[in-house]
Amino acid sequence: MYLVKTPFLLKKLYPKLIWHIDNDSRYIYLTFDDGPIPIVTPFVLNILKQYDAKATFFCIGDNVGKHPDIFAQIVNEGHAIGNHTFNHLKGWKTEDKTYLDNFLKADDLLHTNLFRPPYGRIKRAQIKLLQQAKPELKIIMWSILSGDFDIGLRPEDCLDNVLENTGNGDIVVFHDSLKAFDRLKYVLSWAMERWSKEGYVFKSLE
Ligand SMILES: [Zn+2]
Repeated sequence: MYLVKTPFLLKKLYPKLIWHIDNDSRYIYLTFDDGPIPIVTPFVLNILKQYDAKATFFCIGDNVGKHPDIFAQIVNEGHAIGNHTFNHLKGWKTEDKTYLDNFLKADDLLHTNLFRPPYGRIKRAQIKLLQQAKPELKIIMWSILSGDFDIGLRPEDCLDNVLENTGNGDIVVFHDSLKAFDRLKYVLSWAMERWSKEGYVFKSLE
């Protein structure tokens, strides 16, 4: 079970995490988790290019090691990179020290101040450890969860969810993964078409 729009209460519980970018501009912050991988990540990069869009890719360190050429392409095309741990660890089920080490192992490859915990699950003690290791770290959550990973969701419904809920300053989560690809390729194409007609500009996170 998940919600498309992040509940207010959750944002209140974790005010230091970044859920939304508050400004009055017509910006949308697209984010892509779990790559880089062949086919899917290049597909995303190609669409972003068509709309002159910049986005943020929360990469799994292990995938960067396996697909350094695709990782280089993301960087060369001017997108932002975020750390998503080396092995996609679930914070609530992982020892704090193990979690920190896995974050640092990914950081050796990624060199970024942005981090998103896999599954959005992270313990307060882990947040503290990461921030001690890297004081400039920004932990990026989201305001819109596309549900592209939900294999029971029809692409059309996934698109409706995203279009109905997204507006100024929203941080939208997609996945450049094989599991999400059926929905991702449909939703991203149509949503970007609509949003650009509505005057939105797509920015990466700083
Ligand atoms: Zn993930």
